[in-house]
Amino acid sequence: MFDKKTTCMVVVGAQWGDEGKGKLVDVLAEQADFVVRYQGGANAGHTVVIGESQFILRQIPSGILHQKVTCIIGNGVVLEPENLFSELDQLGARGIDTTGRLFVSDRAHLVLPYHKLLDAASEKSQNLGTTGRGIGPAYEDKYGRRGIRVTDLRRVKCAPHLLTERITRANRLLEMMGSAERASLEAHIELLERLAPRLLPLAADTGLMVHRAIRDGRRVLLEGAQGALLDVDHGTYPYVTSSNTTSGGAAVGAGIGPTAINGVLGVVKAYTTRVGNGPLPTEAESPHGERLRELGGEFGSVTGRPRRCGWFDATVVRYAARVNGLTGLAVTKLDVLDTFAEIPVGVAYRLDDASCEEMPSEVDALGRVKPIYEVLRGWEKPTGTARRLTDLPSGARSYLDRLEALAGVPVRYVSVGTRRDQIIEV
Ligand code: GDP
Repeated sequence: MFDKKTTCMVVVGAQWGDEGKGKLVDVLAEQADFVVRYQGGANAGHTVVIGESQFILRQIPSGILHQKVTCIIGNGVVLEPENLFSELDQLGARGIDTTGRLFVSDRAHLVLPYHKLLDAASEKSQNLGTTGRGIGPAYEDKYGRRGIRVTDLRRVKCAPHLLTERITRANRLLEMMGSAERASLEAHIELLERLAPRLLPLAADTGLMVHRAIRDGRRVLLEGAQGALLDVDHGTYPYVTSSNTTSGGAAVGAGIGPTAINGVLGVVKAYTTRVGNGPLPTEAESPHGERLRELGGEFGSVTGRPRRCGWFDATVVRYAARVNGLTGLAVTKLDVLDTFAEIPVGVAYRLDDASCEEMPSEVDALGRVKPIYEVLRGWEKPTGTARRLTDLPSGARSYLDRLEALAGVPVRYVSVGTRRDQIIEV
């Protein structure tokens, strides 16, 4: 997808996350010089399979698996430093040298243990299905203007001053929420002092780095986490994540201007899944849902939670195309549908007996919609060895053509298996 005109590209999830962005970024990173994560935290889990090895990367962009790529964790991310270090150690143990190739924005906010305590306590009352990793409370602190940023570690001698009020506040909240847990000021001071020497050498003005890279004609990939329907503004609020997952968030979270971006690739599964609570209009009935889950290995890579599974929902993808300005689609996991004789596709909704072609803003309304299905014939042949569109069974090509027409965005990639080579560039 990179060419003379397309040098700065965003890869976003165009459903509810887990679309296989990790694999797409891994494939595209081969042509990239920089890969930038722009939002979210350690709640994302990109899974990349290389040979016999499986890498689950929660914070480090999956581009790190390519030796010539420089990776950046942008200002829009909330960073959990200990998790970052353990990811770095795991990569190191598997022979992947990250020296001088990973930078962290000094404007990124830190996720600290007290955020996790708050997350666990509020999940008990709100039941939004969060991963409990402190991401939401860290973003709340960011927007409440009481967050702690990577750059603050440069003044780590001031740690008690930085932390006292925040820990007191967190403990007051924990008490109010009926939690018996309390955050320890001493433990947090000790933590910041311990983190600083390892994190600060990675810290940089990464917006400036990305700006210069673009100016110098380098190829930059901006990697989103989660998906459009989990965007805090455009998703199925309140069952959303705490950041802007959509492509607008890429400019803000990477620290560049929106005019620098010239391509937006939306990753979609050939069907639909969602983790956690909230409406999922095309959720498949038993036994099809279970079958999709088993065949697609639809269990969360961070939490192991079974994902809810359903059919491709064109209303969702059309909406995602609009709010992201998608210029291309990557359809993943086509192979998961290989054995289905018939494949329903949700083409529109009915809401309270009226037709509904756009995504309702109210979650209750989305919970009430009834999908209108078009049932397409399956191909009932394996697709995993296809490397060109013409290698695919004609039923699979018709299926892709239909998805493309419904979404209104050209299909640029088709993924037919977990491995790096199992991809078709259209
Ligand atoms: P991400 O967060 O969007 O990167 O998605 P995840 O990594 O959580 O989920 C994608 C899962 O699907 C991973 O286990 C991938 O190895 C797997 N995957 C990606 N593309 C394909 C594909 O085309 N076919 C199959 N069967 N699995 C795939």
